[in-house]
Amino acid sequence: MEKILFLAHTDSNGLLPKVALETLTAALQITQGLAGSTLTVGLVGEHVNAAGDQIVACGAAKILGVSGAEFGMSRYATDVKAAAALGAASGATIIIAPATSRFSRALPGAAFRLKATIDTHVSGIQLTEGVLQIQRWYYRQRMMATLTRVARPWIIAIDSGVFQPWQGANGLAKVEPVAVEVTEQDKRTKMTGIEAPSADAQTIRPEAQVLLVAGAGWTKKQTDGQIHAKEAEKHILEFLKLAKASLGSSKSLVDQGSEGEAVLTCMSHLNQVGQTGSTPRHPKGLSTCCHGEEPHVVGWRFINERRAINTDPSCGWAQGKADVLYVADAFAVMAKVNELLAQS
Ligand SMILES: Cc1cc2nc3c(=O)[nH]c(=O)nc-3n(C[C@H](O)[C@H](O)[C@H](O)COP(=O)(O)OP(=O)(O)OC[C@H]3O[C@@H](n4cnc5c(N)ncnc54)[C@H](O)[C@@H]3O)c2cc1C
Repeated sequence: MEKILFLAHTDSNGLLPKVALETLTAALQITQGLAGSTLTVGLVGEHVNAAGDQIVACGAAKILGVSGAEFGMSRYATDVKAAAALGAASGATIIIAPATSRFSRALPGAAFRLKATIDTHVSGIQLTEGVLQIQRWYYRQRMMATLTRVARPWIIAIDSGVFQPWQGANGLAKVEPVAVEVTEQDKRTKMTGIEAPSADAQTIRPEAQVLLVAGAGWTKKQTDGQIHAKEAEKHILEFLKLAKASLGSSKSLVDQGSEGEAVLTCMSHLNQVGQTGSTPRHPKGLSTCCHGEEPHVVGWRFINERRAINTDPSCGWAQGKADVLYVADAFAVMAKVNELLAQS
């Protein structure tokens, strides 16, 4: 019989972020799949009552909370103490938590304090004959492993976008407080604010329905023998704005800046998708002026529907890597797509 703890922290609005609700779905599936298991909720935040009310209908046996002004901010010293205290107070054998950037920093430390084992970036669970198995990717998303552990406590940090967010009616929760001593030393680090680009300047949007990937072709000489980088940038930015899409890039395109070649100013290495870049998750992806080579396409692993526009009918996308390949000039196609989007 497992004692399962769903561990989450609140957002700045005092409620649970979407990824925490997704993780609650996973915690409930695990509780149901492991016969005789019990579920406890552990919340961390400045105030945790509203978050407790938000998920009171999930059926947890009890809701524990570490709260207070010192727990409102993302800070390793206090987060690690809160997570360890909730782990200990619940007597949990399995702790399921969202892999937010805040928890990804603190949970390994909490695992050390709880003498627990931890798996991060978990992207799937399986319950087979009463055994919990998890899935995670290794070697830059090239190999997927399915594994289980006998060691307890076992902390599992679930990646976003894997489960449907839990939904249920609000209610009135009774949150049992768990005391955590905060020393002056713990308070040495203070979060003074968040610096984020404005919504229009922000081109990486993890929640977007569509990922637009731009490749080096946008800055290559076109049929008229000229480079049209400014026009390329206009098409790309217009599409991002109209489709509320996220922007990805091939390595070649973002590397060009350091080689003194024509560049798209909206692009940085943070946009790079692939083996040495990111592996974003979006329902749809559109690749433009990108050859579709394996080190790039490996970053498309979590894109459900893939389309590409390339003038070359034997580009990498044609080798079974895209669902649809438009053999066409991306300048012309994107101009038309943007025109249609603007009308809709
Ligand atoms: C160890 C290692 C790690 C790597 N990691 C990554 C990585 O993380 N991410 C990554 O992207 N790459 C990575 N690469 C590089 C990768 O192998 C490719 O070199 C790179 O993806 C190519 O970028 P590209 O397709 O944009 O450019 P190109 O290969 O130059 O392709 C440009 C494409 O644009 C097309 N094109 C040109 N004009 C038009 C037009 N008007 N309309 C439509 N199509 C047009 C051309 O037909 C061509 O296919 C890695 C390589 C190595 C060795």
